[in-house]
Amino acid sequence: MSRQTADSAVVIGLEVHLQLNTATKIFCGCPTRFGAPPNSQVCPVCLGFPGVLPVLNRQVLRYGIRVALGLNCSIQPKIVFHRKNYFYPDLPKAFQISQYDLPLGSSGFVDLENKKVRINRVHMEEDAGKLIHKEGEPASLVDYNRCGIPLLEIVSEPDLCSPEEAYAYLKTLKGILQYLEVSDCDMEKGSLRCDANVSLRPQPDVLGAKVEIKNLNSFKAVARSLSYEIRRQGEILEEGGRVVQETRLWDDVKGVTQGMRSKEFAHDYRYFPEPDLVPFSVSTEEVEAVRAALPELPAQRARRFMAAYGLPPADARQLTAEKATADYFEQCVKALPAPVENKRGKVFANWIVSDISREINERGLENIQALGFPPSSLIELIGLVESGAISGKMAKEVFIESLASKKSPAAVVAAKGMSQVTDRQAIREAALAVIQEQPKAAEDFRNGKAQALMFMVGQLMKKTKGAASPAISQEILKELLGGENS
Ligand SMILES: [Zn+2]
Repeated sequence: MSRQTADSAVVIGLEVHLQLNTATKIFCGCPTRFGAPPNSQVCPVCLGFPGVLPVLNRQVLRYGIRVALGLNCSIQPKIVFHRKNYFYPDLPKAFQISQYDLPLGSSGFVDLENKKVRINRVHMEEDAGKLIHKEGEPASLVDYNRCGIPLLEIVSEPDLCSPEEAYAYLKTLKGILQYLEVSDCDMEKGSLRCDANVSLRPQPDVLGAKVEIKNLNSFKAVARSLSYEIRRQGEILEEGGRVVQETRLWDDVKGVTQGMRSKEFAHDYRYFPEPDLVPFSVSTEEVEAVRAALPELPAQRARRFMAAYGLPPADARQLTAEKATADYFEQCVKALPAPVENKRGKVFANWIVSDISREINERGLENIQALGFPPSSLIELIGLVESGAISGKMAKEVFIESLASKKSPAAVVAAKGMSQVTDRQAIREAALAVIQEQPKAAEDFRNGKAQALMFMVGQLMKKTKGAASPAISQEILKELLGGENS
C-alpha cells in the first residue's frame, strides 16, 4: 500500500477530558485548588466512605450545558448518572460516577476551516486520584485530591482524516472552551487531556481495528503519535497482517506507541444507574438562560471583525482563534480615537498575524500575553511609523529590539538614535543620484509610465538603507522629474 492510499483511509476520533474550574468538587464541598498538599482536599464523600451520599454541584451542570451549547449540541433534559465499575488504586470507591446512555449533550459540531467535525457527546463525570511513583521507592503513593474533580468528556465522531486535522480540531476546540471560560484549558496541569482513536480502512468499505492512544500531553504529541500510528498500522496492513484492537501508550521521548492492554469493551465496566443520585430534569427555561448568557464565540467574533474592520476572512479567523489574541487586537483598536477607520484595524491585524505570531511560535509561548509586548507597545510602534519618525522596515527591527531589551518602542528608537530620514535635502540628493543612475526609468516616467516611479522609489530606499520616508521620496522624485504624472 502506498502512503497515499494509507492516508486516504485514515479514520481518527478524539476524546477530550476537560477539567472545570468550579470552586468545589462535583459531588461534595471539597475545594479544587491546584497544587494543594497531597490528600488535603478530601472528605468522606470523595473518598467513597460507606453510607455517604453525593450531591451534584449545580455549577457543574451549568458549565456542562454551556459547553454543550457552545459546541452546538442538543441538551438531554433528563439528567442520569451511571456507575462505571473498575478497580484501580487511585479510585477508592472502585467505580466512577459518569454518564452513559443519556449524555448531557449530543449531536453537536465544531467548524474547522474546511470541514465540519461532528461532536458525538458531551457528558459530566468525576475524576480519579493520582498515583505517584518515586524512583527507587518500593511502593507507590496516592493523592486523592483529584478524586471528584468535575470533568466534561467531549467525544468527536471519527471525522478526522489526518494528524494535521486532529491538531486543527484540538486548537479550535480549545479556543472555543477558552471563550466559554469554564476551565483554564492548561494541558500541563492536566486541565485538558486527550485520547486519540485511530484506524486504517484496509478496503474502502471495511472498518479497520481501532487503536486508542493514551498519555498524550500536548497537541504536538497528539499529531506525532497519530503519524507514528498511521505508519505502523499501514506497514502491518501492507505486509498482509492484521491490526490488533488495543490501547497503546505514547512515549514522547522515543517517539513511539507501545501496546498496553487489549481494549476493554463497554460491558466490562458493568454500567448501571447511580442509585444515590436520582434522575432529574433540566427545564427549557434553565437551558435557555444558559444559552442567553453564552459569550461571543470565535466564529461570530471573526464575522464581526470582518464587518467592523474590513479584515479578510483568513486574518479574522487567525485573530479570533484564541481569546487572548482577539482581546489584544480589540484593546489596540479601541485605544484609537473614534471613529475607528477600517484601515487602522488592518494595520494592527497585519502586525499581530505576521510578526507577533511568528515570535510567539518561535518562542513556543502559550499566548500573546506571554510575549511581553502589550497593546500599548504596538500602538506606540505603529504611531512611530504613522508619524513618519521611523520607516516600516525600521519598525520590524524596533519590535525585535523591544522584545529583547524589554524597553518600549519609543525608548528603543531614542536609545539607538534611529530615525527615518525626513530631511528633504538628504532625500533630494539621493533622488538626484537615482535619476542619474536610472535614465531609462526616468524617461519612462516622463513618458507617462506611472510604475517607473515606484521602481525609482525602491532604488532610493535601497540607497538610504530603508531610512528615507517613502512618501517624501515619492513627492521629491515627482517634483524633480516633473513628468506628465506629477
Ligand atoms: Zn470531598
